[in-house]
Amino acid sequence: MNGVPLLGPSRGPLPAETDVAVIGGGIAGAAMAFYLAREGVEVVLLDRAELNREASGTNAGSFHLQLAIHQLSGKGTDTDRDRLLADARLSLEAYGLWQQLDRELDGDVELHETGGWMVAETPEQVRLLHEKHELERLAGIETEVVEGSELRERAPFFSERVLAATYCPVEGHANPLIVAPLYAARAAEHGAELRTGVAVQGIDRVERRPGSGAHRFTVRTDHGDLRAHRVVDCAGAWSGEVAQMVGLRLPVRSDGLHVNVTERRPRLLTPMVQHIGRRLTLKQSSVGSFIIGGGWPSRAVPGPRRYPTQWQSAAGNVTVAVDIVPALADARVVRTWSGVIVFTDDMNPVVGESERVPGFHVCVASTGFTFGPMFARQLAEQMTAPGKHDPFPDRYAVDRATA
Ligand SMILES: Cc1cc2nc3c(=O)[nH]c(=O)nc-3n(C[C@H](O)[C@H](O)[C@H](O)COP(=O)(O)OP(=O)(O)OC[C@H]3O[C@@H](n4cnc5c(N)ncnc54)[C@H](O)[C@@H]3O)c2cc1C
Repeated sequence: MNGVPLLGPSRGPLPAETDVAVIGGGIAGAAMAFYLAREGVEVVLLDRAELNREASGTNAGSFHLQLAIHQLSGKGTDTDRDRLLADARLSLEAYGLWQQLDRELDGDVELHETGGWMVAETPEQVRLLHEKHELERLAGIETEVVEGSELRERAPFFSERVLAATYCPVEGHANPLIVAPLYAARAAEHGAELRTGVAVQGIDRVERRPGSGAHRFTVRTDHGDLRAHRVVDCAGAWSGEVAQMVGLRLPVRSDGLHVNVTERRPRLLTPMVQHIGRRLTLKQSSVGSFIIGGGWPSRAVPGPRRYPTQWQSAAGNVTVAVDIVPALADARVVRTWSGVIVFTDDMNPVVGESERVPGFHVCVASTGFTFGPMFARQLAEQMTAPGKHDPFPDRYAVDRATA
């Protein structure tokens, strides 16, 4: 099948109870619902708006494998190195999942393995490229450092400012408008109840005797109460607010980020391009437009928290793109939007079950388009077959920021 799957109306009355209540209908929540429902688990997914309207449907769609060292807090210690190596191995696992996603979801997520360049403009950045490449080699990710005349030959679209770049053949992009809706459609086919337009306003913990079978939580919504044995917080940028409802503090913060799209141009660039030291992701879509992102901020507006676009960011983002690929200089930007992303303070995901609040689970990752499906699958496996899989590393712990 092609295109975005159509889901039927999902605003029926809320069921009174369920085994698992998933909060959030982005890629993490939709994938959780799918992997749980596929194993026969009773699931109700709640989203206060529509599915895929926040980060999961507004992101740049890049499928990342190379380590983005500039984003990490690394100080070159052994611990940092071990963590980077573990992250690189995780990228390979995510890649494996993406490769089988069309088959798993019986659809087309429009995954294009275009390859990806990560560029460096200064000698210090070139040094980082080499270090990063070495770590990736150790982890089993195929990358190479390309410099000098070979770089000019293989990537003639780069400006003279680019001193070196690493190339990874298996990076690329997929379509953010399709992935979460496809997960949701398949989850519904496996019996998951999807309820949109339902805002979770509070979660009460219910006192119960172990083994009594009583529900642990009452999820209070603007459409009534839902009793649940287990809750999964997949609320992305709002996951901290949902966790607070059960007294937990997550190490998360949210930010608005820009994406810019140009008019269609003749094919120039097949691979994705990232920068090791400046905020840039750049790719040319299959219809020819350039998608320019990479983490330029937008201003938060309090109240119902939105992040309007900010001209300085749009312009700054495009300036970096033109610095790297000068042929973009006269391409017209036709659309700019911002989406709301969740960052974790320590760059580690928050995935697993809380020890303080048994039954309360979280699935949150920053580069969540790439990694959300994998973490959701791993968490669903832990929930359906406890003890059968390796536990999540301590650094993912749900309770790590709760005093
Ligand atoms: C502009 C931008 C570009 C990005 N580019 C990339 C990229 O190229 N590659 C990549 O890997 N990642 C990228 N990301 C990150 C990625 O998009 C996110 O990490 C990922 O989509 C998070 O998915 P999620 O399901 O956790 O959250 P979301 O998609 O934000 O979904 C959370 C859902 O929870 C719902 N919700 C919140 N509170 C409540 C409540 N109280 N009751 C009910 N529902 C609630 C919301 O309505 C929302 O639908 C980008 C993000 C942005 C914003």
